[in-house]
Amino acid sequence: MADFYEDVKVEIKNALEVIGKKEYYDFLTKPKQILKVNFPVKMDKGSTRIFTGYRILHNNTLGPGKGGIRYHPNVNLEEVEALAALMSFKCSLMDLPFGGGKGGIEVNTKELSENELEKITRTFTRTIYNNIGPNIDIPAPDVYTNAQTMSWIVDEYSKIKGKFTPSVVTGKPLELGGCLGRNESTGLGAVYVMEEIMKIEGINKPTIAIQGLGNVGKHFAQFASDHECKIVAVSDSKGGIYNANGLDMDEVFSVKDETGSVVNYDKAEKITNEELLELEVDFLVPAALEKQITKTNANKIKARIVLEAANGPTTPEGEEILIKKGMRVIPDILVNAGGVTGSYFEWYQNVHNEKWNLEKFNSELEKKMKKAAKEVYDTRLKYNISCRKAALVIAIERILNAIRY
Ligand code: NAD
Repeated sequence: MADFYEDVKVEIKNALEVIGKKEYYDFLTKPKQILKVNFPVKMDKGSTRIFTGYRILHNNTLGPGKGGIRYHPNVNLEEVEALAALMSFKCSLMDLPFGGGKGGIEVNTKELSENELEKITRTFTRTIYNNIGPNIDIPAPDVYTNAQTMSWIVDEYSKIKGKFTPSVVTGKPLELGGCLGRNESTGLGAVYVMEEIMKIEGINKPTIAIQGLGNVGKHFAQFASDHECKIVAVSDSKGGIYNANGLDMDEVFSVKDETGSVVNYDKAEKITNEELLELEVDFLVPAALEKQITKTNANKIKARIVLEAANGPTTPEGEEILIKKGMRVIPDILVNAGGVTGSYFEWYQNVHNEKWNLEKFNSELEKKMKKAAKEVYDTRLKYNISCRKAALVIAIERILNAIRY
């Protein structure tokens, strides 16, 4: 992950060069606040273990920090710093009133009981409560944390503050201030970005290949198949399937639900994940893992547009090759920003005591995603740069404009 932050820093440097503000490099690469805590938790068998946790506030020029909390044995300061920086830029690009934050605990959740997980979460909340809050820094679920984790944080934080404060986190259960639409918002947001690109580039009834059918890929596939698109290939960790005439996604999902994988669907040809990436389609949608398009396979990619639904699926070297071949890469900080935009809607409803219906949520999401996609295209043309650089230029300009006042 260390090299990941180095990549992010290079992108920041490049974007600052475009706008002629290189002197802000340190301001944008050094987080405003780094919190590292060690806290004790009494385990089920009576022993006491010390856990290490982090919360980084990268930048709060545009508003309180916003970003997930992950529980993973490999959580470390550099990774959390990089992820917090990306959150600042994602929120700014989407014109949300948030800065960027990220947190985590070094822990393997698979070794813990539910009771231990709850104690760890509550103790972590008590340890960092001064550094989180609806107007300070607002966590959300991330790797191996979920709506239940967020509920424990709300409960503990509300007890400390002496008042019910659901807006301290997003990604909560519906009953506890969560909101309709949030769970699907990353996948649906990516579909809205694709629609705007189709409009700008004049693409009708696009062919699509999707790598990964988890939360993001599944909802992307479901919404895209309702939007006059032809999904010709999909994959999961066991492999992929391809049908040039288009896949019936309802059938594919029921086979996946029944058997555990799409590879058991028999009205399509079986393909590997590598082959899926190399299909000639309008949109290739990596929605699973990082580093899928690299200098090793970029020359074999034939998609017209890569829509980065996952975080970091294209390496900088891979992207350079694609761009030289005239392909377009739509960056993750735009494509998967539907998630944090949905989180903003949840926070907004909490602080205003509102409850939106799904129609309102999705129509607000559509406006935000399409506006940001158009701005990225306009900025790409204005400076003659890649879409990734354009997204970062918009995000950084907004933050730097705000610090002038
Ligand atoms: P997930 O764990 O729900 O799903 C991941 C999927 O990838 C699974 O279906 C898994 O089978 C599949 N997969 C694993 N290895 C694979 C392989 N080699 N080839 C093909 N498929 C493979 O994760 P998710 O929440 O859908 O997140 C996917 C990506 O999107 C991640 O990069 C994540 O950081 C990013 N993201 C997610 C959200 C969100 O709201 N969930 C928001 C922003 C970004």
